Amino acid sequence: MATALITGASQGIGACIATRLAKDGYHIAINHYPSDGDKANAEKVAAECRDLGVEAELFAADVSSYDQCEEMVKAVKTRFGTIDALVNNAGITKDGLLVRMSEEQYDAVIAVNQKSIFHMLKLVGTVMMRQRSGRIVSLASVAGLYGNPGQVNYSASKAAIIGMTKTAAKELGSRNVTVNAVAPGFIKTPMTDALTEEQRKKMLELVAMKRYAEPSEVASVVSFLCSDDASYVTGQVIEISGGLMM
Ligand code: NAP
Repeated sequence: MATALITGASQGIGACIATRLAKDGYHIAINHYPSDGDKANAEKVAAECRDLGVEAELFAADVSSYDQCEEMVKAVKTRFGTIDALVNNAGITKDGLLVRMSEEQYDAVIAVNQKSIFHMLKLVGTVMMRQRSGRIVSLASVAGLYGNPGQVNYSASKAAIIGMTKTAAKELGSRNVTVNAVAPGFIKTPMTDALTEEQRKKMLELVAMKRYAEPSEVASVVSFLCSDDASYVTGQVIEISGGLMM
C-alpha cells in the first residue's frame, strides 16, 4: 500500500488532509512540530487514520531545519519502504504592516513556510525520482497570488512556493513525479481563528461564495492531486477560494 507524508498534520488543514488520504487508502506518516502539545494532537489524528484501516505513525521534526527533515525522511522510508505522496502543509503567520515588521518576523516565516519546501522537495524528490513515481502537493495561499496587507513575509513565502512548484515539476516530471500547489483562501482553522471580527467581515466581502471554506474542501482537492485521476496534472496551482475577487 502507498504511503503519504504530511507536514504540520497535528491540527487544522494538515490533520484533515491526513484523514482524507487515509480514507483514500494511503498509510499515513504524520509530521508534527516537536512539542508535547503537537504530539498529543498528532496522536489523535493517527488514531483516526488507524480507525480507517490504514497504518499511521508520528514523525516529530521542525521542518525549518534541514537536518531534522533529513532524519524524518530517512525514518519514514525505513518504516514504510516508500514515500508515494508528500503534502507540504506546515506553515505559520507572523503578521505586521511592512513598515513595522521586524527582520525576525520576516525570517521566521520564510524559514518555516519557504525554506522547508526546499528541504522537503530535495529530500523526498530524491526518494521519488529513484522510485520513478510520486505526488507532491504544497500549500500556497491566495496571499502568494494577490498579496495581503500585513503579510509581506507570508505572501513572499507563498509566492515562492509557486515558483518552486513549477521548477520542481519541470525537473521531476520525466521520472513520473507530479508537483502541484493549492492556493486556499479563507479556511476555518486555528490559523484564521486569530482574525478579528472586522477582518473577517472585510475578507468575506471579497469572496463570491460569501463563506469560509471547511478544511475538508481543501483536503478533497489535495486528495485529487494525489490520486491516479491526476496522473497528467503537474506544475499547477489550484485556487480554493470560493471565488476571491481582490
Ligand atoms: P494551523 O492550524 O496553524 O496548522 C499549521 C500546522 O503546522 C500546525 O500544526 C503547526 O504546529 C505546524 N507547524 C508550524 N511550524 C512548524 C514547523 N516548523 N515544523 C513542523 N510543523 C510546523 O494552520 P492551517 O490553517 O491548518 O494551515 C495549513 C497550511 O495551509 C499552512 O501552510 C497555511 O499557510 C496554509 N493556508 C491556510 C489558510 C487558512 O485560511 N487557514 C489559507 C491559505 C493557506 P504549531 O501549532 O505547533 O505551530
